[in-house]
Amino acid sequence: MLQRKFEKIVLQEYPNARDAKDTSIHFLGKMQIDHKIDVSKVLMATSVCSDDINVPSTTFFNVLFGPFVMGGLGGLPFVGKTGMTAFSHHIPDEGSAFIFYGPHIGITLDGELGKMYRPRMEETGSSCGALMLALSRLKDNKYKPVINDDDYQQMKLEESLLPYREEILSSNNQAKAITEATYKIIDKKIHEYIKDCKDEFHVDKVTLLGGIIINTDYGLDDYFDAKNFEVIDLKSL
Ligand SMILES: [Zn+2]
Repeated sequence: MLQRKFEKIVLQEYPNARDAKDTSIHFLGKMQIDHKIDVSKVLMATSVCSDDINVPSTTFFNVLFGPFVMGGLGGLPFVGKTGMTAFSHHIPDEGSAFIFYGPHIGITLDGELGKMYRPRMEETGSSCGALMLALSRLKDNKYKPVINDDDYQQMKLEESLLPYREEILSSNNQAKAITEATYKIIDKKIHEYIKDCKDEFHVDKVTLLGGIIINTDYGLDDYFDAKNFEVIDLKSL
């Protein structure tokens, strides 16, 4: 019952979102049927936020090897080109690669985005915490992130968001807007790293599935709003 209520709320904000199980069935099916990919030889990488709440969202692709974890705060692929290279070297012979990426956003039954109820906590918390913190700071127009060793990922995340500051702050849903902007940042970086590291892969195909993870209450399925499904032929890059 609760799952159905959530589904209605989620679909109001993200009309194309699917629950976790549907997402895996749909896209694994497309890989096998439309692209003739042998899913028994696929290594997965993820570029999603470190937040513990996202672990179930990545296990719905449990039939695949991996994951190679690329993401840090906000879901940015902080492992960089060295990480992409390492991932490329671990793919099964005659196999292929799959990269699941994107930011996450919580939702409550009241339809509030950027918030969620976490396990055994009575009050709502932020989700994504890193993005909501960045949002609160970017609202102060004198604020500028300072890159430093001890808070490296958060500062880099905020720095990457600076070009989107106006767009985010002028939106009528800032939590949603900062999540969209983060998706664009992650998507761009993943494409760049693949292009720059293409000669490191000993296979031809890399499947990308990027979008926004929507966290509901603990114990219920999360949803995924797919924005990019793409099978890249590395020979054509
Ligand atoms: Zn997060």
